[in-house]
Amino acid sequence: MPTIAFDNSYARDLPQHAVPWQPQTPRAPQLLHWNAALAAELGLGTADAAAETLAAWFSGAELPEGAQPVAQAYAGHQFGGFSPSLGDGRALLLGEVIDRHGQRRDIAFKGSGRTPFSRRGDGKAAVGPMLRELIIGEALHALGIPSTRALAVVATGEEVYRDTTLPGAVLTRVAASHIRVGTFQYFAARGELEQLKALADYTIARHYPQQAAAAVNPYLGLLQAVCAAQAALLARWMHVGFIHGVMNTDNMALSGESIDFGPCAFMDGYDVETVFSSIDSQGRYAYGNQPWIAQWNLARLAEALLPLIAPDDPASAVPAATEIVEGFAQQYLQQWREKGYRKLGLAPVDGPGLLEDWLALLEAQRADHTLAWRFLAEAATGDDSRLAAQFVAPQPLADWLAQWRQQLVASGASPEQTAAALRAANPLYIPRNHLVEEALAAASNHGDMAPTQQLLAVLAEPFTERAGLERYTQPAPDALAAGYRTFCG
Ligand code: AMP
Ligand code: MG
Ligand code: MG
Repeated sequence: MPTIAFDNSYARDLPQHAVPWQPQTPRAPQLLHWNAALAAELGLGTADAAAETLAAWFSGAELPEGAQPVAQAYAGHQFGGFSPSLGDGRALLLGEVIDRHGQRRDIAFKGSGRTPFSRRGDGKAAVGPMLRELIIGEALHALGIPSTRALAVVATGEEVYRDTTLPGAVLTRVAASHIRVGTFQYFAARGELEQLKALADYTIARHYPQQAAAAVNPYLGLLQAVCAAQAALLARWMHVGFIHGVMNTDNMALSGESIDFGPCAFMDGYDVETVFSSIDSQGRYAYGNQPWIAQWNLARLAEALLPLIAPDDPASAVPAATEIVEGFAQQYLQQWREKGYRKLGLAPVDGPGLLEDWLALLEAQRADHTLAWRFLAEAATGDDSRLAAQFVAPQPLADWLAQWRQQLVASGASPEQTAAALRAANPLYIPRNHLVEEALAAASNHGDMAPTQQLLAVLAEPFTERAGLERYTQPAPDALAAGYRTFCG
């Protein structure tokens, strides 16, 4: 009999922060995807488990022994407006395991039915959006970007009612934790300072024990550590053209992992104003705004932490907290420059330089973000052809390349060394929107998982060019790209 060694610290140590609850029993669970590599990393005893067992366990039909499902409470600023009570309206934390690296990881359902936090929602999820979450999470992970990941996607055999009728699914999500900025806001807004402190102490112990211990005040240390993690995460997102889509404070994890990317997408032609989400009509969460929205969210975390930083006089903590949140800008820019110059094969410089010029060039000509970066590797060894094909006007590119080559020569690296470094820093394969849509449609409309599996296989090795995969490198045909929108599940 397969087993999972659960150790459910959130339910055990923070009983006031979540409500014990049971998943709905689905009508006819059927395993659509099982992430065997992730299961092995987690040390789950599922190597010999039958597909029916996995489908039952990871749909809520029959819980694995030791699972202790709870719906977690949280609040959140959604598109700038505060909702004091959101919480797991269609999610359940089953529990935690200690993975092969000794890291505590959450195992949680999404789409497992109504909970006390469901408000008017049905608690359900559709196959398409859950497969999008699977594909994007695996793609980010393979790109070296911290992300929650899907362990399983199980079709429920039931229908979900949105604009149309859709096949239902339960996603099993693995996360460093599901603690959000909004989790802190929930207890701060209610003035439940004991619960707020318990949450902060738990978060420190789980994610940032050293940073908190080294700081003058542990809660300032926590804020500083979260700012650093988010600065690194946002720099990574920006350098692969990732648009989260709904950066509400309830969708920002304290761990620094990407989470809850519902209506998200990767950019094709470079344009900082790109918005993909159909619900973001104001462009609040446009590509170029993301770092500053992250900082706005961190300011909300800072506010929630004030009564812990200075219990006798929370207002007195404002200057120190503000300094940390303002410092995010510098941290982000430093991360962004470091990673950006690595993508150019050069050492970072302070202040505007070749990196900014390169992006201005991409933007002026709407060059494909991924391919332009990728084909620099060939340009480093003298073949500009695939790079030049990404640009409409040749002269500005030629001018920039001349400067870039001068700096490469000055760096002392051989062209071959530079090319290898560039291929390792600039992916060729990203989840192109039209390919994701195609995979989701095949699964939703025909129960055909083959396109999803093929896409996952390509995205698992984003930096290695393979023959026969040209189709996976191409941007969407113009018409599709212009009207591309993703939707919440
Ligand atoms: P999201 O936009 O998916 O990040 O969700 C925002 C909030 O709405 C969270 O509290 C979710 O649990 C809740 N929610 C989203 N979709 C549903 C649904 N279908 N049923 C119940 N709650 C939902
Ligand atoms: Mg969410
Ligand atoms: Mg949300």
